[in-house]
Amino acid sequence: MTRPRILGVPVDPVTFEEMLQKIGEWAASTGLHQICTVNPEFVIVAQNDPVFYEVLQHADLCVPDGWGVVWALRMRGIHVPERVTGSDGVPMIAERAAGKGWRLFLLGAGPGVAKQAAQFLHDQYPLLKIVGTYEGSPRPEEAEKIIQLVNTAQPDILLVAYGAPKQDIWIYQHKGELQVKVAMGIGGTLDFITGAVPRAPRFFRRTGLEWLYRLYLQPSRWRRMLRLPLFAFYALWYGENLTRKKRDGAHD
Ligand code: UDP
Repeated sequence: MTRPRILGVPVDPVTFEEMLQKIGEWAASTGLHQICTVNPEFVIVAQNDPVFYEVLQHADLCVPDGWGVVWALRMRGIHVPERVTGSDGVPMIAERAAGKGWRLFLLGAGPGVAKQAAQFLHDQYPLLKIVGTYEGSPRPEEAEKIIQLVNTAQPDILLVAYGAPKQDIWIYQHKGELQVKVAMGIGGTLDFITGAVPRAPRFFRRTGLEWLYRLYLQPSRWRRMLRLPLFAFYALWYGENLTRKKRDGAHD
């Protein structure tokens, strides 16, 4: 089956359960499998960032994280059973990991956040094995140390919270060195788990207005939000194809 695309970026219309099944298959196999959580910002940023675009092309699974992405595919008659977000997906991964014995490593977020998130998850799923947490940063000079730390802890699943696109590029660039089965960029998910940043109330999440709530909480995100109307326009105009600028190979 051909993979649906929005402006050239692949999106796999899976359910949460299908994502968990895939993780289970990969946890029992060899090599690193990368999961990306595609939202409208990913699609727009990828038009101007050739490295990020390449990362998304090679990801083993691109889940439909943003409502805009779900909408753009449904507009074209593509069946998208549900929106699969990283922030809802991570607690589900933790629950499944506790049952299956998958080992988790939490990387990134602010000082102490990964450790605190690990404690929260562990309180909820006492059988969960979180074999390491580390803040670090996606700066190249830190990579060697982080990779050594991760490999020594021997996790099956590495969750990276450096924000997109840095986290996804970081995973892709260190694919050959990281000895994990699954690696996933999870953005601000650890901040949600610890409660440092409250999740939007259900109403906002269900009506596609989560961006509005996040803007209210973090007004500094307004520039990033400008990508949303641009995404809607491009998605309607170009559909699965590249934007003209991207097709012509022009980047700014
Ligand atoms: N972050 C980090 N190091 C960096 C940049 C970001 O640890 O160099 C963390 C930040 O603390 C936050 C997470 O990355 O916990 C996600 O940030 P953001 O809210 O921008 O991500 P989004 O959910 O919008 O992708």
